[in-house]
Amino acid sequence: MERLPFITGNWKMNKTVGEAIHLVRELKSAMSGIKGVEVAVAPPFTSLYAVHQELEGSSIGLAAQNLYWEEKGAFTGEVSPLMLKEVGCHYVIVGHSERRQFFGETDETVNRRIKAALTQGLKVIFCIGETLGEREEGKTFLLIEKQIEGGLRGLGDQEMRNIVIAYEPVWAIGTGKTATPEQAEEVHRFIREKLEKLYSQKISEEIRIQYGGSVTPENVKGLMNQPNIDGALVGGASLKADSFSKIVRFKEL
Ligand code: PEP
Repeated sequence: MERLPFITGNWKMNKTVGEAIHLVRELKSAMSGIKGVEVAVAPPFTSLYAVHQELEGSSIGLAAQNLYWEEKGAFTGEVSPLMLKEVGCHYVIVGHSERRQFFGETDETVNRRIKAALTQGLKVIFCIGETLGEREEGKTFLLIEKQIEGGLRGLGDQEMRNIVIAYEPVWAIGTGKTATPEQAEEVHRFIREKLEKLYSQKISEEIRIQYGGSVTPENVKGLMNQPNIDGALVGGASLKADSFSKIVRFKEL
């Protein structure tokens, strides 16, 4: 089954509006003419609209880094799915480990966010992954299973078509320690098998599973060569046009 590779740049809490516009202009020129790969960037909320305007007419998609599940109201500091849609987002990242770690996200709140995003027609990049402690205790698969079951609870086959999964081992995020292609592939295969049990062979074969955790131009090819790795969620290396465009052009490396 051919799945279109999907590379997303998660800018996290980086880039002012001016810096975001500058980066996206560089990205557009570095990526012109590229085919056979889907690309999206996830700037902070404050830059979404400006980046959307800059991206008009380009094939680079726009993603937000989080959202809240209510439509509107007294939820100070939160942003609704409709608001993201209106500023031009196609995707939203949900359940990133930094949200789970620092902002109290649980499988249940991740599930509520995913459902709200889908209701507004946003596609979801659903992040899962184990900590170093969980890996060392041999709990990786148990944890991944729990995060999948909790995060996707209540979603049907149709909704799964708008989900991308990002496997991001927490110990590899921002640490420079990448999972080896074999370590990542082992978990990606497990995720696909779990989806086959929960849904169907068709859904499990269609869904794209990105790897995230210190992806660089140096290691992307080895990861992308694995049969169940369909893309990357890139943090640090997405903040510079040069490294991000090299990752996107992994086939040419
Ligand atoms: C991320 O935050 O999604 C990520 C993978 O970060 P980094 O590439 O910096 O490890």
